Amino acid sequence: MAFDIEMIKAVYDKYPTRIAAARKATGRPLTLTEKILYAHLSEGEAKAAYERGVSYVDFKPDRVAMQDATAQMALLQFMQAGRDQVAVPSTVHCDHLIQAEVGAVADLTKAKDKNREVYDFLASVSNKYGIGFWKPGAGIIHQVVLENYAFPGGMMIGTDSHTPNAGGLGMIAIGVGGADACDVMAGLPWELKFPKLIGVKLTGKLSGWTSAKDVILKVAGILTVKGGTGAVVEYFGEGANSLSATGKGTICNMGAEIGATTSIFGYDEKSAAYLRGTDRSDIADMADQIKEHLNADSEVYANPEQYFDQVIEINLSELEPHINGPFTPDLAWPLSKFAAAVKENGWPAKLEVGLIGSCTNSSYEDISRAASLAQQAVDKKLLAKSEYTITPGSEQVRFTVERDGFLNVFDKMGGVVLANACGPCIGQWARHGAEKQEKNSIITSFNRNFAKRADGNPNTHSFVASPEIVTALAIAGDLTFNPMTDTLTNEEGQQVKLEEPRGLELPTKGFAVEDAGYQAPAEDGSSVEVIVDPKSERLQLLEPFQPWEGTDLKGLKLLIKAKGKCTTDHISMAGPWLRFRGHLDNISNNMLIGAVNFYNEETNKVKNQLSGEYAEVPAVQRQYKLHGVGSIVVGDENYGEGSSREHAAMEPRFLGVRAILVKSFARIHETNLKKQGMLALTFANPADYELIQEDDSIDIVGLESFAPGVQLTVVLNHADGSKDEIRVNHTYNAGQIEWFKAGSALNLIKAGV
Ligand code: SF4
Repeated sequence: MAFDIEMIKAVYDKYPTRIAAARKATGRPLTLTEKILYAHLSEGEAKAAYERGVSYVDFKPDRVAMQDATAQMALLQFMQAGRDQVAVPSTVHCDHLIQAEVGAVADLTKAKDKNREVYDFLASVSNKYGIGFWKPGAGIIHQVVLENYAFPGGMMIGTDSHTPNAGGLGMIAIGVGGADACDVMAGLPWELKFPKLIGVKLTGKLSGWTSAKDVILKVAGILTVKGGTGAVVEYFGEGANSLSATGKGTICNMGAEIGATTSIFGYDEKSAAYLRGTDRSDIADMADQIKEHLNADSEVYANPEQYFDQVIEINLSELEPHINGPFTPDLAWPLSKFAAAVKENGWPAKLEVGLIGSCTNSSYEDISRAASLAQQAVDKKLLAKSEYTITPGSEQVRFTVERDGFLNVFDKMGGVVLANACGPCIGQWARHGAEKQEKNSIITSFNRNFAKRADGNPNTHSFVASPEIVTALAIAGDLTFNPMTDTLTNEEGQQVKLEEPRGLELPTKGFAVEDAGYQAPAEDGSSVEVIVDPKSERLQLLEPFQPWEGTDLKGLKLLIKAKGKCTTDHISMAGPWLRFRGHLDNISNNMLIGAVNFYNEETNKVKNQLSGEYAEVPAVQRQYKLHGVGSIVVGDENYGEGSSREHAAMEPRFLGVRAILVKSFARIHETNLKKQGMLALTFANPADYELIQEDDSIDIVGLESFAPGVQLTVVLNHADGSKDEIRVNHTYNAGQIEWFKAGSALNLIKAGV
């Protein structure tokens, strides 16, 4: 951790001058988000103001976090970068691959066995390159980061969409793909479009049944799942300062559900208390010294409309508990209206399972408040009518809440403690009977509730609420129960009412843990061997992509002309393919299998121009590769939207596709293609998409003078001997053209350029 303290000190030392430069460049007071972003410019002190929602800016994040499903490809790429060590503090967290079935101990044992080769690989590669390794069972990435690494005013990227959880402690924390993580670990800058800013002013104070979770459930209802796109949500006001740091983490975590780039709170007494409570008084002391820089300038919060692109105000004193769902996290119901909604919509009122915990809601405060209800259930002779599970976010929280008797209380209520891992939150839930696909209801304190996400059953109606509300409803076994007004009949036939939950933000005896599950890397990893079985079907070391041959590309076969929406899921499907995320050859068997072929309107059925027969897309492309024939993929608008997963760019590159020509790209996917050395081109005239014919052989001309802003020519050689010549655009800058020439950005990094 000494490395971290030095790093944080270096960040804080720069704050006064960098923020002064940013104020000068913008000519106005700054929001907290702007302060942190301007303090992390790759160019150093700001020389000019950036335009929100327009300017692309290079940043220098302070750290990187990766979860086990995404870390595999990120680290396989990093191994190609030719670095001895990571350039910034980085960690790997084994949390996504553990399946919940019977309970923590048995499930963890099984997962260690089943995923042994992946864990061995991640442990050894971490050890070699100076990356902290959190073993399976240590906890969920975002909770472990909040407890150990998040710091006010810092900037991190993480290969998981809920990375913004660290915003609860005042950090700009953003979810990215593995290729971005690889770049930052290799010491390269990281590019982001300067975000727009949404201010959320919190007044009043939470009380009774309402918790921090209800703030974000309410915000999700206001902004919807797309309302935060391209924006950072900055919370402020006296209400914000009244929330615990972990409560703030919950709110920032679920900013991902409104599409926000990230969410953030300023540094306050609660942040300091959490830092001190998690054994980081040294960081709190340092933050105290520069606290005026770890909040917005006072003029900003006094006149938020002037400085934010949008402002929302929520009075915590009037906020009701909320339940959101089913199937989408932005369908927000105040508790008082929920029972009627259940009846009107015909949702199953019987509650089958209540699940608390996860990276979103497993703080000491959450668990202690939920346990206060469980204790009431025991005292009032109310046995939980639903199944009830508890997923601690980290071993530190689990150990501490066990020491303080809470797990014992859950046990008495009939609860089952699952491993400190993602489990049911990411579909790693061997739920008995789910295969029958019966219509049923569950409620969780997690963040997402899309169809099939928890148990694979499309008919499971999943609702999201605070751990307190989940617990109360699990005791009742009934979605229409309102614990604020209704009574329950106990085992003795008496009517009893649940009192308001009570809890503690931090343990009075402090946190404790016997084995947190952390493995520090070797001081000198040069002799550490990275373990990858050559026969593995889940892991494969990467080979560098070949550099450009220096000539125009002639005779490319049309692999597919994709029609309509072609997202990263269409290009590289998730679900069962998750297990191959570390094996480029095997996962390439899902390449474009979801894309619709323009000519027959079918998926995964394209013409093999060598044989004239129709076959699956990956199979046809493998034939082209075998015969040394290049190919091209043609697509429609916004090609590659969706996730930032680099597999969608690596697979076509690996199988020998030479260019992707579309009407328009989703920006992250376009960058991913460029990074992998692929030609990413757009029709100068989108109507030229219609000129492409199924049997075309295609030439790309002008590459020898490939230059920024200069169009290329594409010649369509049709089967009947006729030709069309069209102009295509590209957005490569000079540096990116070098990526193309070298075969990939990684090849250049490796060459030390
Ligand atoms: Fe993602 Fe759920 Fe795991 Fe959190 S608990 S990191 S939301 S899968």
